[in-house]
Amino acid sequence: MSDLPDPLTLACPVCATRNRVERARMAEGRCGKCRSALFEGRPVVLTAENFGKHAGSDLPLLVDFWAEWCGPCRQMAPVFEAAAGALEPDFRLGKLDTEAEAAIAARYAVQAIPTMILFRNGREIARTMGAMPLQALVSWARQAGG
Ligand code: ZN
Repeated sequence: MSDLPDPLTLACPVCATRNRVERARMAEGRCGKCRSALFEGRPVVLTAENFGKHAGSDLPLLVDFWAEWCGPCRQMAPVFEAAAGALEPDFRLGKLDTEAEAAIAARYAVQAIPTMILFRNGREIARTMGAMPLQALVSWARQAGG
């Protein structure tokens, strides 16, 4: 992700406070407010409260739109979890429960799930639908987000 600003701003995975950090140090960085690690190797749970802060930070945000009743979503869950380990700190990964946060799912016209949408600077830049293997997801994100 050579075109990212340095230092960049990113939202804390726990309290969503925007932190300004140097790229070389962000992987080990801690939130200036709550002292949580800025990267935890797993997706952030996205809600109406924190979605805008994560989507609008300098890091690309990869979102898994899912629902509890959806079999392919459950199949995708461990893959998406592993993708967080593979893609951080170049990306932030987040999960959005389309039942709990229906307004956000509607805003992006998410119909089939799982749907993965990649955001940069608050805008959708790519999306893909259906469960996929880890390597395919990681390659897709890197290609689309680079
Ligand atoms: Zn924090």
